[in-house]
Amino acid sequence: MLFPPICGGCGKAGFRWCSTCQERAPRVVEPFCEKCGIPIRHVGLCSKCQSDPPAYRLMRSWAVFDSPVQNALHTIKYRRNVGLGDSIAIQMVDFVRSLQWKLDIMIPVPLGSKRLKERGYNQVGLVARPLAHELNLEYKPAALWKSRETRSQVGLTISQRHENVSNAYQANPSVVKRKSILLMDDVATTGSTISACTAALLSAGALEIYALTIARALSHHDLTRV
Ligand SMILES: [Zn+2]
Ligand SMILES: [Zn+2]
Repeated sequence: MLFPPICGGCGKAGFRWCSTCQERAPRVVEPFCEKCGIPIRHVGLCSKCQSDPPAYRLMRSWAVFDSPVQNALHTIKYRRNVGLGDSIAIQMVDFVRSLQWKLDIMIPVPLGSKRLKERGYNQVGLVARPLAHELNLEYKPAALWKSRETRSQVGLTISQRHENVSNAYQANPSVVKRKSILLMDDVATTGSTISACTAALLSAGALEIYALTIARALSHHDLTRV
C-alpha cells in the first residue's frame, strides 16, 4: 500500500485501531448510575437521576473519554477516518448486545446544517452506521434534525449547555412513532444534548429512547475543553 493506515489511537503504522489501543480503551466500570450510566460510589441512582430523572430510558457509554479513545474520536471527527469508525463500531458490538436493549431503529445525534456544510459529514455516523448494520437495526439519520443553530457546548457551564440545546431538535413522527430508538452520540458530557434529542423524539411519538455514546466525559474532564 502506498499510504499504510496509522492507528487512530496511538499513531502506530499499519493499523487503523491497533490491538494495544483496543485493549487499553478505558471502559466505564461498575458501580455506575443505573439510569444515566455515570460512575458513582454506590449501586442505584446518582443524585441527579433521583431528583430530576432524565426522559430517556437508559444511557450507557462504551468507554471513558481518555486516551486512546479520545484521540480516536478526534481523528474520526476531524479527518473523516471511515476505517477507524468501522473498527470502533466492531469493538462496540458485544458491549451493545450485552445491554439487551429491545430496539427498532438507530438515530445519530445530528449536526446543525451550518456545521454539516463546513465538515461535510456527521462524525457520529462514521461509527453509528456500521454499528447499526452489525446490530441489524435500521439506520435513520434523517429522522432527527436540528431546527435551529446552537453554539458549541465546549466552554459552557452545565446550565448554559442545557439552555443552548433546549428545543433545538425536531423529529419525524412517521419514522419514530411507537419505535424503540437507539440514540447515539460520540461523547456525553453533561447529557444536555441527549436530553434535548430525547425530548424531540418523544414529542414526535417515539415509544422509548435508549442513549448510547462512544465515550463518557467524567468529572476530571474540564468543561472548558470537552
Ligand atoms: Zn494504537
Ligand atoms: Zn444518573
